[in-house]
Amino acid sequence: MAAFGTVFMPEMAISWFDGSSWSTPELVASDSLQLHPGAHVLHYSSTCFEGLKAFRHADGSVKIFRMDKNLDRFEQSSHLLALPPIDKNATREMIIDTVRRFAADVPEAPGSLYIRPTHIGTEAAIGKAAAPSLTSCQYILVSPVGDYFAGGVAALRVLIEDDGMRCATHMGMIKSGGNYASALLPIMKARAEVQADQILFCPNGDVQETGAANFLLIDGDEIITKALDESFLHGVTRDSVLTIARDMGMRISERDITVDELLERAAKPNCEAALSGTAAVLTPVGTFIHHGKEISIGNGGIGETTLKLRKALNDIQWGNSEDKYGWLTEV
Ligand SMILES: *Cc1c(COP(=O)(O)O)cnc(C)c1O
Repeated sequence: MAAFGTVFMPEMAISWFDGSSWSTPELVASDSLQLHPGAHVLHYSSTCFEGLKAFRHADGSVKIFRMDKNLDRFEQSSHLLALPPIDKNATREMIIDTVRRFAADVPEAPGSLYIRPTHIGTEAAIGKAAAPSLTSCQYILVSPVGDYFAGGVAALRVLIEDDGMRCATHMGMIKSGGNYASALLPIMKARAEVQADQILFCPNGDVQETGAANFLLIDGDEIITKALDESFLHGVTRDSVLTIARDMGMRISERDITVDELLERAAKPNCEAALSGTAAVLTPVGTFIHHGKEISIGNGGIGETTLKLRKALNDIQWGNSEDKYGWLTEV
């Protein structure tokens, strides 16, 4: 099985902003993007993206999960990066057109079609280090993906980093390339030095998120996770899991949580921790590493509630339970 996100369908929808309007979207070859080497994005990182999925249901239909929520975030990221405003209706049509074009290639459960809308500043102007790109381009890449847990679910080892941060605070809620570049070396170091799978960034002891996923602490029937603010990415999976959990009668506490409280709760036998994101839905965390010490969460393995919530979300995505929140769009 190819690594996640390395197989692309041969065409993508694309549209260009010329400074005043968007071109009519077209389907073009996925490797046909031409940019000037002085393009703003290549120098000053004027780029943002989205990640969402389409699912094949047992009746053969193909449904996109929470597209409107991703479109809202794409619009917000573009705005906060001073990129030209997207036209959400046009972008929605581009997503639907691309998925429809490759509807026959959407894998069956437990696979899916990963959708990657991308928006980049294209103006060739290397003097614009402190000015926005007046032109831009957006495109919709799609990539069939298999079962994220094909190799079996393993509880992650997560390094708690209470000094450094993932990105500048005012960039946290933007899904933008530079943020991932800024977290890369710390993650590589954590892998090499303490065999951590991820870093949980907790600047000044404030538990935020990992490099590409939100963090949830599940303590019995309570889920504790940081309340939305501009310092971290507002995950659609986070929102979906909290909605489902609330409906199951769990208590949801969206508030700040300190590393001290996290470690204190983690030691309790019925505690679980999980990372949420579109790619893996919910991934259990088994061990924290903090100042050279290893702390098991609950029993150190895969939490029951984590699995239950993941299944409940997957059931909606694949049409095995009712879409009672209206989260699916048929293509
Ligand atoms: C994409 C992302 C998430 C998860 O968002 P979803 O909408 O659930 O996929 C969380 N944190 C970061 C930094 C991300 O880039």
